[in-house]
Amino acid sequence: MKTIGIIGGMSWESSALYYKAINQGVSESLGGLHSASLILYSVDFAQIETLQHAGDWDAAGRLLNQAAKSLQAAGADFLVIATNTMHKVADRVLDGIELPLLHIVDPTAEALLQAGHKRVGLLGTGFTMSDEFYKGRMQQKFGLDILVPDESDQAQVHRIIYEELCLGKIDAASRELYLQVIDRLRARGAEAVILGCTEITLLIDQPHTTMPFFDTTALHAAAAVARCLSDD
Ligand code: GLU
Repeated sequence: MKTIGIIGGMSWESSALYYKAINQGVSESLGGLHSASLILYSVDFAQIETLQHAGDWDAAGRLLNQAAKSLQAAGADFLVIATNTMHKVADRVLDGIELPLLHIVDPTAEALLQAGHKRVGLLGTGFTMSDEFYKGRMQQKFGLDILVPDESDQAQVHRIIYEELCLGKIDAASRELYLQVIDRLRARGAEAVILGCTEITLLIDQPHTTMPFFDTTALHAAAAVARCLSDD
């Protein structure tokens, strides 16, 4: 089994989901007392969040690059960045790193294509929804057509992530708001929606909506399990 190097803590609420899902996946595949071989480097999210909102992405990328170097030195075989947003600085994180990165967009896009979707909505932080690093990879590498909420919906979705979900706060009114945003994306032609922030799965679950959704936390964790159990 390969050793997974996880850069987490963004937030720890979702890293805990990764930890559980990866161990469950390995246990289901191998049975018995098997569990994942993994190393988790969990950062102080307050530091990262301050740099994000100050626009100092280079400094945030440098911090994660230090984490990647530690994971490499500790014996990880490949890297997982356990947040959608920080893939914005994936190249910076990989500076001087020889390990491959399991990019969060790839298993998500593959699952969407496999389900036959083409035009899909995206929920995530404002950085993920507005920037090209995420939508661009979805469009250019996988041919997916990505729809994002309008500016005021984006602001609400973003606020709830940082002020509630990353603190483990689950609020029924916020769930209702997310479901309304999903309905507006559907009205614009979205066939499915990407939960493109690793904490959104804490708030909404498939029974809450008839809109098919694709949870990046579960898909990324499942891909990490497949990679760690594969021969290549
Ligand atoms: N976990 C979130 C994501 O998947 C947001 C936290 C962050 O800014 O990294 O984007």
